[in-house]
Amino acid sequence: MDKNNVFENDKRFIANTYARFPVVFTSGEGAILKDADGKEYIDCATGIGVNIFGINDEVWKNAVKAQIDNIQHVCNLYYSEPQVELAAALCKLTGCKKVFFGNSGAEANECAIKAARKYGNDRYGDRNEIITLKDSFHGRTIATLTATGQDAFHSHFGPFLEGFKYAEPTMRGIYSCYTEKTCAVMIEVVQGESGVNVLDRQFLKELEKFCKERDILLICDEVQCGNGRTGYAYAYEWAGISPDIVTTAKGLGGGLPIGACMLFDKCENVFGFGDHGTTFGGNPVACAGAVTIVERFTPELLLEVQGKGAYFKANIEHIKNVRAVSGLGLMIGITTDKPPREVAEKCLERGLVVLTAHDKVRLLPPLIITKRQIDAALKILNEVISQ
Ligand SMILES: *Cc1c(COP(=O)(O)O)cnc(C)c1O
Repeated sequence: MDKNNVFENDKRFIANTYARFPVVFTSGEGAILKDADGKEYIDCATGIGVNIFGINDEVWKNAVKAQIDNIQHVCNLYYSEPQVELAAALCKLTGCKKVFFGNSGAEANECAIKAARKYGNDRYGDRNEIITLKDSFHGRTIATLTATGQDAFHSHFGPFLEGFKYAEPTMRGIYSCYTEKTCAVMIEVVQGESGVNVLDRQFLKELEKFCKERDILLICDEVQCGNGRTGYAYAYEWAGISPDIVTTAKGLGGGLPIGACMLFDKCENVFGFGDHGTTFGGNPVACAGAVTIVERFTPELLLEVQGKGAYFKANIEHIKNVRAVSGLGLMIGITTDKPPREVAEKCLERGLVVLTAHDKVRLLPPLIITKRQIDAALKILNEVISQ
């Protein structure tokens, strides 16, 4: 199909929910994407943090192909080897006790919300309020939209759910939302969608203590900042805190849809038979691929990510018209004088794919991006932003 044909048919047949950039990606290799005209791009978006080991990652592809040739779907009424393997790998990596698999970040968070409410209700009767943070993002389902602490997401689809409160990311903010009905506090250690905001470590430590003292569950939404992205397998490790529930998705699947809700000690047995479920969740092909992702979060890789992130950031700071650089590891937010969408469009024209996040330009390159590719990306960013 010709490129313009794709544009036309997309407009005609696909719901109008995405303001797409005018490009049709058709192939790639590592940190390089190719479009329908054969033009090459450096990928600093990874399909919003998904292709973390790059396009055409052989290790992942081989595992997926092998599984495709065995069995393609098993419903959750029966046992599944790849699902067990992935859950065991996640438990080993993080210390969590049990995992529930869904198909997306929103579903992972739905599971966390249900787990937290059930934990509070089981133990304390009517304890089911969840505190989330201002400027958070937790997904697009009604519950996760409600959990999202941004007014912009709270229109059109009402009525929204009861039982959510939005706190400033300070202990004062938490106290002002806290009631005897609070069952959980849900945070992103690095808020992705609202502009790559890294939460204050001291705040996170105090929040952890606050939650522990009251038997309130601490939920880390690591859908975006998890899976090696920040130079830690999961970003809560950077903060030195121990959450009760961790959700993740995006990079975990390496390119296939998957979401995971990891339950730590306190709530490992919160669900009983029939309390939660999904048809597709933990699909064997997605799980077989994800196992090869999780296996690669070695100390060496994570150190490399930290180093690349620091190099990227230090060089962006020097670019003229850059006001600030935020982020952790290879999750980077850039504040400039220019509208982020315009920067993203100009970068795309020059062969660099970047994202925006609220008022910032956002970079989520693959963890395997090379120094040469980073330098090439910096050159384009410099041309576009300093102009
Ligand atoms: C992307 C994202 C979600 C939603 O994930 P989907 O897979 O799009 O449902 C939830 N939380 C955070 C922090 C995210 O970045």
